[in-house]
Amino acid sequence: MTFSSLGLSEPILRAIEESKYSTPSPIQIKAIPAVLAGQDLMVSAETGSGKTAGFSLPLLQRLSGGSRVKSNHIRALVLVPTRELALQIGKSVASYGKHLSLKSGVVYGGVKINPQMMKLRGGIDVLVATPGRLLDLSSKNAVKFSQVEILVLDEADRMLDMGFIDDIGKILVLLPKKRQNLLFSATLSAYIRKLADELLNKPLQIEVSPPNAPAESVKQWVYEVDKDMKRALLSHLVRSKNWEQGLVFNRTKKGADRLVKQLQRDDISAAAIHGDKSQGQRTRALDDFKANKFRVLVATDLAARGIDISELPHVINFELPKVPEDYIHRIGRTGRAGFEGEGISLVCADEVKLLAAIENLIRQTLAREVERGFIPTHKVPLTRLQDRPKKPKKPKKSKKSTVQNN
Ligand code: AMP
Repeated sequence: MTFSSLGLSEPILRAIEESKYSTPSPIQIKAIPAVLAGQDLMVSAETGSGKTAGFSLPLLQRLSGGSRVKSNHIRALVLVPTRELALQIGKSVASYGKHLSLKSGVVYGGVKINPQMMKLRGGIDVLVATPGRLLDLSSKNAVKFSQVEILVLDEADRMLDMGFIDDIGKILVLLPKKRQNLLFSATLSAYIRKLADELLNKPLQIEVSPPNAPAESVKQWVYEVDKDMKRALLSHLVRSKNWEQGLVFNRTKKGADRLVKQLQRDDISAAAIHGDKSQGQRTRALDDFKANKFRVLVATDLAARGIDISELPHVINFELPKVPEDYIHRIGRTGRAGFEGEGISLVCADEVKLLAAIENLIRQTLAREVERGFIPTHKVPLTRLQDRPKKPKKPKKSKKSTVQNN
């Protein structure tokens, strides 16, 4: 199968060639002809499947044939949950459309609104936006929707998780009724299906990878480790295995910052990316990490959404996620586009239930490994969880003392 057999036009094929994609991914094979034909889509696919090109390439081609965009108007709207994803999709759209005379742009919160208003003045064919900022711009009359032909809702499950449902509802009423709708979600919960029922018109359903399964190209295993030895084990792994690039997941922002400091104390270059960091700091950390300027990027789940680093070799769960599906999203950062990856979880006794929930979801028992070269210097030995002795019960106080003082 080739890209040209999917009905894509010459300027788009040229951009694909320059991106060095040789064959379309399974999702692209199904989605591209359907979008070109004007159909609605409901796609269950994760980042890494090639879904962005799956919708952007045909969307750009459809827009390239239409009328000019008017001042402050947009013709296609791509709604995404996070700034990182917005930037990433914006970059892809700009690159796939570089030989077309279409304008694309990205808007998201946490940065000044004025430059975004200025950019919108000239009209933008493809706008990638986070919901809150889009509504702010709309309330200032900076963006108008009457020319919208195509709506893309990306990572719909995450949008609902993040509480964007009301904002999405407010945006939908502003859009023209007649339009093409493309809905993407990593998981297909009952809630997502309900949203799809309301939004989509006889959609083509595409399920590419089986939902709830990490990619086979990722080798996964678990180290059972005492909570207060996790940091020492992480430093040991980074150093002894000479990791150049590891993405480490931590549940909390504070925990992520603390871990970065501890790693730095161990002479391992590290930075954190989470919601309390400014947009500039997040973008810089991500760019520096991609450029191999430091070795460990510590991220929270939300901040890591949309991180796309080709050939990222290691993902480490410093703490397991509370929501088992997030394990799949985390592990999905590695082993992409045909590369091998490693997904490693450091699991302490408090997390046994979380691990069981993950193994239940992915329907496999993760291998338990012992890191032979790691000698804990802490007083608590690195025991296997199942071997851990139960806490001895406190002896009941008896009235008569049986202790003899010899
Ligand atoms: P996505 O699932 O859209 O986040 O894409 C994941 C990664 O795959 C991105 O880095 C894309 O540049 C890359 N990609 C998309 N389509 C292809 C393709 N047909 N061949 C090779 N790489 C691709």
